[in-house]
Amino acid sequence: MGSQDSFSTRSIHDATAPRSVSVPAAGSIEQSAGWTFADLDEVDDVYAGVRRGAIYGGSGVPNHWALESALCSLHGAPQALVTGGGMSAMAAAFFTGLRSGDTVVASRDLYSSTAKLLADFSKFGVRVVAADVYDPAALATTLRAGARLLVVETISNPRARVGDLAALAAVAHEHQTLLLVDNSLASPFHCAPLGFGADLVMESLTKFIGGHHDLMLGALVGPRELIEPARSFAARCGLIGSAFDCWLACRSLATLEVRLSRSSSNALALASRLATHPAVRATHYAGLPSDPSHVAANATLSHGFGSIVSFEVADDRAAVDRLLAHLRLVKLVLSFGGVATTVSHPVTSSHRSLSKDERAAIGLHDGFLRMSVGIEDLSDIWADLESGLAAV
Ligand SMILES: *Cc1c(COP(=O)(O)O)cnc(C)c1O
Repeated sequence: MGSQDSFSTRSIHDATAPRSVSVPAAGSIEQSAGWTFADLDEVDDVYAGVRRGAIYGGSGVPNHWALESALCSLHGAPQALVTGGGMSAMAAAFFTGLRSGDTVVASRDLYSSTAKLLADFSKFGVRVVAADVYDPAALATTLRAGARLLVVETISNPRARVGDLAALAAVAHEHQTLLLVDNSLASPFHCAPLGFGADLVMESLTKFIGGHHDLMLGALVGPRELIEPARSFAARCGLIGSAFDCWLACRSLATLEVRLSRSSSNALALASRLATHPAVRATHYAGLPSDPSHVAANATLSHGFGSIVSFEVADDRAAVDRLLAHLRLVKLVLSFGGVATTVSHPVTSSHRSLSKDERAAIGLHDGFLRMSVGIEDLSDIWADLESGLAAV
C-alpha cells in the first residue's frame, strides 16, 4: 500500500486497520462473503476442520457460529444450524429428512406455512396425514400405519394449544417415528424440547428470540446426524441468513429471560381478565386452569405459559374493526414476539386462503384474534384492551 499505487488501487486496498488488542464489547459483525487465506495449507486445514475458519458467506461466518453456540447452550443441544428464517430451517429439515414414499404425520393445529410446505412435498411422493396430536389414542392409531416424522408445535399458532411433549416423544418412538418440534412460540426460555425426547427442534428466531421485529432468522437444533446434512443443504441452497441478523439475535438473546418473564406474566394476567370479560366468547391460554391444555402445559412449559393469548369476540368483521380502531397502544401486526403488545387476525392473514368451512373446522372465524403480549405496564395494556372491547 502507499502513494506509489494509483488512486483506484488505493481506494480498494488502503482501508485497512490493525486488529485491536481490545475486543469489542458489543461483538463485531463480520459481514463478508469472501474470506482471505494466508496460503493453501490454511485452506486445507479449514476444510479438514483442523482450524476453524470461514470459507464463504453462504456457509456461515463467526456471527452464525456465535448464535449457534448460544442456541446449543440454551437448548442443551449437541448441534445447531442457523438459517435465514424458520421456514428455511423447516425446508432444510424436510429436504434432508424425507424421501419419496415417507409419511409425515402433522398436527392439525399447525402454522399455515408449515402445512403448505409439507403439501409441496406431496409432488415428491411424500404423504402427509393431519392428526389431532392432543388425543394420544387417536395419534397412536395414526402412527401405527407407519410414519417417518411427527411434526408438532410446543405452543400452537394461532390457537395456543400445548401438547405433552414427553408423551408425544414416547408415542412417536414406540412407532419408530422421529419427533420434530416447532418451538417458535415457546422459545428455549419456556421449553427445551430435546429434554423431553424430541429428535429435532425448529425455532423461528424472527419472533420471541429476535423480540423487536427487526430480524429474520430460524434455527434447527438437535443431534449431529440430523443437523450436519441440513447444514450442507442450507449452504448449497443459500438458506443461512445474514451476519447482521445473527449479531442482532445475539444482542436479543441477552434480554430473552427478562423480556419473556415479564411478557408471560402479563399474558397470564390479561388472559384471566379476558376470560371474564362479557365481550369475550372464549380465551385460549394454557396458563388458565380451565384451559384444555393446562395439564399438558404444566408438564411441558417452565417459567410461565408463554406470551401468546388468543381470544374470540363476536364472529363479526365490522365489530373487530371497531375494536382495532379503539386501540391506542396495541397495533395490528401480522407477526408476533416483539416487546410491544400486538394483535393479529388469522382469517384475513395467515388463514385467508382457507374457505369459511375449512376455517370453522380448526376453530377460526372473523372474531378470532391472536395477541402477542409485550412488556409494557399491565394496567396500560388492559385499559387499552378494555376500550377496544367496549366498542365490539
Ligand atoms: C413465524 C413462524 C414460523 C416461520 O418462521 P419465519 O422466521 O417467519 O420463517 C414457523 N412456525 C411458527 C409457529 C411461526 O410462528
